[in-house]
Amino acid sequence: ILDFGIDEALKTLGISSENPGTSTGVKQFSSGSMISSWSPVNGKLIAKVKSTTKADYALVMDTATEAFKTWRKVPAPQRGEVVRQFADKLREKKEALGKLVSFEMGKSYQEGLGEVQEMIDICDFAVGLSRQLHGLTMHSERPGHRMYEQYHSLGVVGIISAFNFPVAVWAWNTALAWVCGDVCVWKPSEKTPLCGVACQNIAAEVFAENNLPEGISCLINGDAQVGALMTKDTRIPLISATGSTKMGKTVAQEVAARLGKSLLELGGNNAIIVTPDADIKMTVIGAIFGAVGTAGQRCTSTRRLIIHESIYDKVIAAVVKACKQLRIGNPLDENNHVGPIIDADAVKMYTKALKDVVEEGGRVLVEGGVISGEGFESGCYVKPAIVAVEPHFKMVQQETFAPILYVMTYTGAVENALEIQNSVAQGLSSAIMTNNLREAERFLSVEGSDCGIANVNIGTSGAEIGGAFGGEKETGGGRESGSDAWKIYMRRQTNTINYSAELPLAQGIIFDM
Ligand code: NAD
Repeated sequence: ILDFGIDEALKTLGISSENPGTSTGVKQFSSGSMISSWSPVNGKLIAKVKSTTKADYALVMDTATEAFKTWRKVPAPQRGEVVRQFADKLREKKEALGKLVSFEMGKSYQEGLGEVQEMIDICDFAVGLSRQLHGLTMHSERPGHRMYEQYHSLGVVGIISAFNFPVAVWAWNTALAWVCGDVCVWKPSEKTPLCGVACQNIAAEVFAENNLPEGISCLINGDAQVGALMTKDTRIPLISATGSTKMGKTVAQEVAARLGKSLLELGGNNAIIVTPDADIKMTVIGAIFGAVGTAGQRCTSTRRLIIHESIYDKVIAAVVKACKQLRIGNPLDENNHVGPIIDADAVKMYTKALKDVVEEGGRVLVEGGVISGEGFESGCYVKPAIVAVEPHFKMVQQETFAPILYVMTYTGAVENALEIQNSVAQGLSSAIMTNNLREAERFLSVEGSDCGIANVNIGTSGAEIGGAFGGEKETGGGRESGSDAWKIYMRRQTNTINYSAELPLAQGIIFDM
């Protein structure tokens, strides 16, 4: 049943037909029920993974807590060296892991490879960072005093990730957390458990080769209930959770109830504004890749195209033509542009969204629909659709995690397009297509896009690891990956040292005895 070298890839990644789901690093064990991983590519069972029970979880947490005591004492540049070795292993296994990502999640093989490349890139970033975990030195107001700040390791970091980036999101978190001296417990999506097992196998090998204790990288498997074991656990100072806004609202409340920290990376409803000065060719590539890349299942996927009325017909004609040329099929076949969406529930959601938006008054410009027949037996292949809408439609205001592009017009100045763009509850990624400097700067100004990511002459989809990644409003406010996102994985301490023979008090307070 396996094709395109998947069998070989599974072997390379240490995956068998039945896998222990829970792992404290070197040791793999589990006593829970089986989670089946079905490929959306061909609808067949790939393998099974054991889920984590409460007793398993207790053992994981004990091991992780113990490992932290050792790992935090390893000098940060040496921790960076371990992460460098991890990146080397990823380079060796890039093709195998890229294939598994594609086969288990459904994105194109090119995008699967891209995800592994992103893991390698963040590791490289983390290696450099391991020598740059800088704090500031401040001038004390008191004579004979020195004041500075330092960053200490935080502890156990809990990572909850979504199905659509089944390996990269973990790496964004864990590579930084590891150099910061933290240990990580990861619960991948129950829809992509094999990607979790594969990554953990690679990490475990590296930690064992360095004679480090097990528990620096831990894996737990299961659904929301297993995730909730972590969100309620006071031994976990930071929960990094990536997924839907619905999940984020629950996780945020549970973590806040115990005054823990959460880093939330939630849903988006991303728009490209196309102004009269836009380069149409660039707009079409940006919009179509943004809408159909990963079959519209990226948090940064382009959901809305806000086009100036003066060029609306021209842009629509080009976008519709490009959309009709897309090849849909097995994502491991590099001739195809669009693979399947994740599962039958996702197909139902896509079909319902199209029906609902038409009921609201949407006009279909490119017909959607579920594809059947040879090569599409999984039932998860759907046609990318384009629908002309009004910005206020209910369906347009929410994120539908599927390849549906909503197009709409604006009139007059770019401010009107910005009002439409910012009118949704989410605030992840945004873009403007323009060669007009005033419009571009207006878009980037404080009165412009309200999103965490704002691009000029680039689509909304995809981001480089060097920048901080995340969004505002219902996207959750978290930032991970580059820039100074590392600071959330550490605790900050301000230190003041008195090297004088006096004890002057701050703010000049006199306290004579
Ligand atoms: P989801 O919310 O269904 O699940 C995400 C993860 O959260 C899974 O591991 C799930 O088991 C876990 N989970 C769900 N409820 C939980 C709870 N109450 N407690 C603990 N864990 C819980 O999301 P999904 O369908 O896997 O992913 C799609 C969503 O993720 C989209 O909304 C997308 O925009 C978003 N996403 C956001 C980013 C980002 O960086 N902003 C990145 C990727 C995906």
